[in-house]
Amino acid sequence: MTDETVERPPPKPLVPGVASALSPMVRRVLAPNPGVMTGPGTNTYLVGIDEIAVIDPGPDEPAHLDAIAACGGDRIRWILTTHTHPDHAPGTAGLKARTGAEVLGYEARDGFEPDTVIGDRYRLEATEFNLRAVHTPGHASNHLCYLLEQERMLFSGDHIMQGSTVVISPPDGDMAAYLQSLQRVLGLRLRSIAPGHGHVIDDPKAIIEYYLRHRAEREAAILEALRDGVTSVDGLVERIYVDVATELHPVARRSVHAHLLKLVSEGLARGDDINGEWSPMPVHGRR
Ligand SMILES: [Zn+2]
Repeated sequence: MTDETVERPPPKPLVPGVASALSPMVRRVLAPNPGVMTGPGTNTYLVGIDEIAVIDPGPDEPAHLDAIAACGGDRIRWILTTHTHPDHAPGTAGLKARTGAEVLGYEARDGFEPDTVIGDRYRLEATEFNLRAVHTPGHASNHLCYLLEQERMLFSGDHIMQGSTVVISPPDGDMAAYLQSLQRVLGLRLRSIAPGHGHVIDDPKAIIEYYLRHRAEREAAILEALRDGVTSVDGLVERIYVDVATELHPVARRSVHAHLLKLVSEGLARGDDINGEWSPMPVHGRR
């Protein structure tokens, strides 16, 4: 190599049940739930040494909850969730039963019951570290990211993941809100991102800009297809998602629907139902 790229060590392997140290303050335990939607599985993070905050206990999987408890013991003081989807939050009750920790989250939903409801800019102050909540609706309306201020590391849940883009599924998923939340995170001056799925991301700006560019390209392609006379979500998926395996087309349908609803809110398209008819609005005409 002739450039001056700094060689990075290879990422710590993602192995279920084995705690790996990612930084002086952060450890990760991977849940044993790999899949099409979860990649290698859900990452559970332990932040702190003497007092520990657990971020996303993952699914209600006893072996995984035992591994978290074994790693943190009675120093686990808080359990936080990024959102209430089934691969992130259901382990909360079991981990609380094992540790007695206080549960913090945006709202009670999907069986998740916080002891303390927290929102945007909430700051968890431990002796060694601070975590600041950043409300990031889009993937889920109740999604929070957490910024570890001492390391400028963002725990991004499903707002940003390594190895794939994020599913936006209406009505709880909202594409316009998602793009705004990406812009907000872009302004946080991050050093790294610890995602809910996949490896730590060392170049936050590059991935967020890629996400924004990717969505802008999809949106432009959808609008162009509508103007060419494609009227159904299935037709749009077939034309645009040529790079995506057909088993993921049901997911692509939801993302296309999310893009279409954003275009409707901007007065650029007409339609409503995912199975209904869609059409472009005339660009220069009047309604
Ligand atoms: Zn999710």
